[in-house]
Amino acid sequence: MLPSPLPSESLTSESSVDSLDAETCRSLRDNQYNATLIERIDIHDDLFRVRVRPDAGIRPFEPGQYVAVGLGNWEPRLKPSQEENLEPKKMTKVVRRAYSISCPMISADGELAPCDKLDYLEFYIALVRQASDPKGKPPALTPRLYGLNQGDRLVVESKITGHYTLAGIDSGDTILMLSTGTGEAPHNAMTAGLLHRGHHGRIINATTVRSHADLGYEREHRLLMERFPQYRYLAMTTRDPENLDPAHPRYVGKQYLQDMFTSGKLAELAGDPLDPANTHVFLCGNPAMIGLVKAGEPIPARPGMLPLLSAAGFTNEVVGPGHVRFEKYW
Ligand SMILES: Cc1cc2nc3c(=O)[nH]c(=O)nc-3n(C[C@H](O)[C@H](O)[C@H](O)COP(=O)(O)OP(=O)(O)OC[C@H]3O[C@@H](n4cnc5c(N)ncnc54)[C@H](O)[C@@H]3O)c2cc1C
Repeated sequence: MLPSPLPSESLTSESSVDSLDAETCRSLRDNQYNATLIERIDIHDDLFRVRVRPDAGIRPFEPGQYVAVGLGNWEPRLKPSQEENLEPKKMTKVVRRAYSISCPMISADGELAPCDKLDYLEFYIALVRQASDPKGKPPALTPRLYGLNQGDRLVVESKITGHYTLAGIDSGDTILMLSTGTGEAPHNAMTAGLLHRGHHGRIINATTVRSHADLGYEREHRLLMERFPQYRYLAMTTRDPENLDPAHPRYVGKQYLQDMFTSGKLAELAGDPLDPANTHVFLCGNPAMIGLVKAGEPIPARPGMLPLLSAAGFTNEVVGPGHVRFEKYW
């Protein structure tokens, strides 16, 4: 899919660019940027898949890992987004954020495309226009990242890192991956990696998003399910009409992963008992879904997955079947 250029009036220079002339910006880019955006696939205005090719190639990495991506504070910010007032000395700095490496999963000619066999990195990134805490710092990177188009330059750190990987998994084990929103990214990389290495146990990739419009990889998941009977993609929503309107003919209520798990609906849809004896669990995305409770803190009224999984016999301490791994995005 070709990138759809953003209307120029949606980008604003704000204070940062006003104070740096075009020649300074050009020289900062030339000196610091080390990668090129080669393709941008817009799912909707606030969600995209983006492919980036680092100039120096890509060091070996494992599905599930992440890398830092950055842009200069001198780059314009997409509007509407929370206003940012930077001190002059910060204008020439690069802001970096971690991004899980996602995966196209299926190549243009219909072949399985594991992320570590490509000459680019794919990311799945939501635009954050506003900090969730009204007093919080304005989101620094994504309002700038969303201004980029094909051919534009940016920073990608050479070090790809992270412990959220497929280590210690046997080929017949059940893999249960649960995500919210763009937390699906590492699971897509893991899915393609598992299928590519001939994993024959069940692979369940379940995600909850607000609306069906937020499913950036639905077509690829359907194709994989047609080809690999051990693979199941479960897409669930919380804000579509069938989630909100009890009179809707297909009313299902809000499909939060926690409720789906405790009610047994997730196991039913997965077609698997999700037994800790042979199931590895991966949780990625919104911290409220993950539900990490620090020692001494009470479990909230709506617990996240970690306490629910613990009550069901899973653990995040011992590696092996029954093990839970998680990656919090904030
Ligand atoms: C290991 C790791 C991997 C990550 N991988 C991804 C990824 O693959 N895709 C991705 O979109 N983000 C990912 N993130 C989050 C990412 O690093 C940025 O925080 C995010 O893109 C927002 O950047 P920002 O500078 O615009 O705002 P920030 O100042 O970084 O964040 C502002 C606020 O935005 C909200 N937020 C952060 N990330 C998201 C998100 N993904 N969806 C909705 N709201 C969010 C939170 O409330 C956060 O406090 C990852 C984070 C970590 C730690």
